[in-house]
Amino acid sequence: APAPPPARHLFSDPAEVEALRRDLLAWYDRCKRDLPWRALAATEPDADRRGYAVWVSEIMLQQTQVATVIDYYNRWMQKWPTLQALARASLEVSVAGSGSSPCPVPLSNTRPCLSEQEVNELWAGLGYYSRGKRLQEAARKVVSELAGHMPRTAEDLQKLLPGVGRYTAGAIASISYGQATGVVDGNVIRVLCRLRCIGADASSPAVIDQLWDMANVLVDRSRPGDFNQALMELGATVCVPKAPLCGECPVKQHCQAWRRKLFGKPPPVPDVEDCGVGDCPLCPPATEPWDSSLGVTNFPRKAAKKPPRAMRTATCVLERGGGHGAPEYLIVQRPSSGLLAGLWEFPSLPLAQDLQEEKEKEEFAHHLQAWIGQPVAAKGLQFMGEVIHIFSHIHQTYVVYSLHLDGDVTLDPALSPSRWVTEDEFHASAVSTAMKKV
Ligand code: SF4
Repeated sequence: APAPPPARHLFSDPAEVEALRRDLLAWYDRCKRDLPWRALAATEPDADRRGYAVWVSEIMLQQTQVATVIDYYNRWMQKWPTLQALARASLEVSVAGSGSSPCPVPLSNTRPCLSEQEVNELWAGLGYYSRGKRLQEAARKVVSELAGHMPRTAEDLQKLLPGVGRYTAGAIASISYGQATGVVDGNVIRVLCRLRCIGADASSPAVIDQLWDMANVLVDRSRPGDFNQALMELGATVCVPKAPLCGECPVKQHCQAWRRKLFGKPPPVPDVEDCGVGDCPLCPPATEPWDSSLGVTNFPRKAAKKPPRAMRTATCVLERGGGHGAPEYLIVQRPSSGLLAGLWEFPSLPLAQDLQEEKEKEEFAHHLQAWIGQPVAAKGLQFMGEVIHIFSHIHQTYVVYSLHLDGDVTLDPALSPSRWVTEDEFHASAVSTAMKKV
């Protein structure tokens, strides 16, 4: 078995663990933000609804800021206040639709499944759209296979609910059901790496394992949900990535990075001299030692990030005169998996790299022809400009064209769902932020 990491990187003194819990919880009680899911978790007597309320918040908070989530969360909980409400919406559609499966079959080939469309519309703007769909699928599973009861432990939540990983399971179990289990998210990683001067690549499995062990040691046994939220809150509001507010930090007395910044060298505890000079698995690599100009932000360290992939996509705002004279625009639905799954967009085509402009237009005209079932001349496409949108891993450039169609256009029902919408309907549809920019 590998040797345990040096004590400097651990919480091995029970008295210090007690003191840290006490200091952190006292700060949380004084300073915590008032958030709708916290109010529900604290006051909701129905255990299943409590778990559901926390679950929805945790899924929405993945990759998204608290301030953005609040409004979406309130609207979601108003529309689907219980697991049963979320699952029932799908089942009603299934009865009205083909009935062969709970929801995924569209009511007609020009309109998507009603509840899926509603989920997408409510989710539009939050990003990472598959999260909403997975939540809906998991709700169906709880209602149909678990008699509507949420699993009560982190282990069962992770095992039984699709889309629920180790972090989300720990958060639901500790906050809703009081299980003394730790959580590790981006905020917790930063706080723990600083508290214990962990400078090895914080995304490596060995470091992540250590952090989970540490979170499980630290979590307060009588208030696990509050403790976990306090640790995350500390990372979100005090121990922030670039300019942490160490002077106001409730746990600075327990923070090795802060002490090291003050004293300019590792704190004088017995085995520290052995740490960092040899092959300590948790210290910064010898090639990138402590940089005193960075202070506590020496921690955590990350492996170099891959640059985002560059993509170019042609997109066309196809317009026709609508019934009452107002122009209408063609939107089509994206495939049900992958980037922006299930969302609506103007007809678009990813472009090959290094294609000449004329060739690009020809290919795109050919693609549009398939949607509207009539010839489209490349020279009829009017270039409007380019729109850049950055996804987390893709640097997307939309090459925007417009085309006005005279006369009626019959959409081919054999193709993916497509429909004509007015400008107002476009904005109310489940379209991505990128398409709104277009
Ligand atoms: Fe973070 Fe500074 Fe507090 Fe340490 S003292 S936990 S670095 S805010």
